[in-house]
Amino acid sequence: MSHALNGACHCGAVRVSFESPDMDAVPVFACTCSFCRRHGARYARDPNGALHVTAAPGVLGTYRFAAQAADFWLCEQCGVLVFSSVETPDGPRATLNVVGTDIEGLKDRPAQSMDFGEQAAEDRAARRQAMWTPLTLVEASPSA
Ligand SMILES: [Zn+2]
Repeated sequence: MSHALNGACHCGAVRVSFESPDMDAVPVFACTCSFCRRHGARYARDPNGALHVTAAPGVLGTYRFAAQAADFWLCEQCGVLVFSSVETPDGPRATLNVVGTDIEGLKDRPAQSMDFGEQAAEDRAARRQAMWTPLTLVEASPSA
């Protein structure tokens, strides 16, 4: 049975639900890239799970840098970095910032430090497709 953990950005305009069939085994990573370090982001992902994001219309903004390979999604109302995503042939895949969304049970899990800077672009794309979480993103008012 799949378990779900819920969270939100600081102002609550972006809400997330992270599902995993084995929540205890979900790894948490501290990405050491120049952007994620500034946010203190820690990411969880499960290729067999699901990430549902519900955002109030117009509050989500994206940022790209360096290889432009991934989108970083931020709440433009409160500035929290919520998740990062890529498009793959199998659909969008994401990693969730469990610190930014204050996910109980994941935000305090010891994080593995990862430096992907040396990886070739093809390797990086393949890894994200294989390891990141299937994403559904819906824009709707929180009360709807
Ligand atoms: Zn917010």
